[in-house]
Amino acid sequence: SAELVPQAPADPLFGLMAAYRADTDPKKVDLGIGAYRDNNAKPWVLPVVKLADEILRKDPAVNHEYLPIAGLVDFTSASQKLILGASSPAISEKRVTSLQTISGTGAVHLGALFLSKFYSPAIAAAKTIYVSNPTWANHNQIFGNVSLPVKNYPYFNKETKGLDFDGMIDSISSAPEGSIILLHACAHNPTGVDPTQEQWKKIAAVMKQRCQFPFFDCAYQGFASGSLAQDGWAINYFVEQGFELMIAQSYAKNFGLYGERAGCFHFVAAPSSSAVDEATRVGSQLAILQRSEISNPPAYGARIASLVLNDPKLFAQWEEDLRTMSGRIIEMRKALRSKLEELKTPGTWNHITDQIGMFSFTGLSEKQVGQLREKFHIYMTKNGRISMAGLNTGNVEYFAKAVDSVVRE
Ligand code: PMP
Repeated sequence: SAELVPQAPADPLFGLMAAYRADTDPKKVDLGIGAYRDNNAKPWVLPVVKLADEILRKDPAVNHEYLPIAGLVDFTSASQKLILGASSPAISEKRVTSLQTISGTGAVHLGALFLSKFYSPAIAAAKTIYVSNPTWANHNQIFGNVSLPVKNYPYFNKETKGLDFDGMIDSISSAPEGSIILLHACAHNPTGVDPTQEQWKKIAAVMKQRCQFPFFDCAYQGFASGSLAQDGWAINYFVEQGFELMIAQSYAKNFGLYGERAGCFHFVAAPSSSAVDEATRVGSQLAILQRSEISNPPAYGARIASLVLNDPKLFAQWEEDLRTMSGRIIEMRKALRSKLEELKTPGTWNHITDQIGMFSFTGLSEKQVGQLREKFHIYMTKNGRISMAGLNTGNVEYFAKAVDSVVRE
């Protein structure tokens, strides 16, 4: 009976949001949740999304019927082109199978479920997914739910607040042949630290040699650098190297479609004479998993994204909107670093501008995070991660001074 069900802890991030909302101090700052805010700390509906929404509303052909199990075809095919490049041989050779999912979380889950059912490496211990330490906390839960064993590879170097590249490479090289390696395509969550292109090439070389299986989680394409191609570079490099791989693609951040749950899952077969057949068979199994779990995906967000992705003019507007978001965040990184340096806050602060994307791992301790919350009404996760989008020209100085004060304690 339910008497035996233990109480679970509240999700730490959503708990943080609730505490922020309950705080009545006008100076309060929300650096917790990973959602874009404009310079007035307000959610931002992308102008291109507004345009697409108006077009959809006027379209008499739009109705509320079910989408196919694999989702809207115009959306999944445009998503392939976005992530792999329009002229990708993987697409023209029909080696890619794609399904629309419940945003990025659903795509990670669908891939996880598929791997747990069908991944059968020669070495049994290789049926393990290696995730970075730290990683997006939900990764551990998602893989745990489908009983896929999870192990860590080192990622963050606490001294430099950059990448622990040697630790990462050593760990991946010593993982059993055929292991699954989860990689953040760009704008690593929670650290904001990405490998350089040279480092990606070395990671790919080691994984190739060890016959390992890449699973890319791509939640920030275009949102990190402002360039879709640059943020998709690592995935494209791995595809060019001939890997068989999977991609979880989210449109939450880059379209600001958080609550609409638009995402896509892709399986790419390695180039071979049986690749088309493999992609087809994998697709047939994914369709059965999808049918049993969600039956078919939600339509609205995918329709918006599809309209934009398939129309050159709207696409150009979207790229401008992406530059607006990424540009504002990059400006806030510069402003925060320069304020801290101006204040001569003990420590080094170059990592604030070296890191990329929505988040920054500040290096603040749990104790300092607690002090920021109690004394200054500033909310962030215990690990010292801040959402850069929570900073704006009105609060960056207040935040810098607060950090300065707790660092000097
Ligand atoms: N993966 C990573 C690394 C993320 O940061 C996020 C967003 N927090 C997601 C996946 C999925 O988000 P969503 O389901 O909202 O697309």
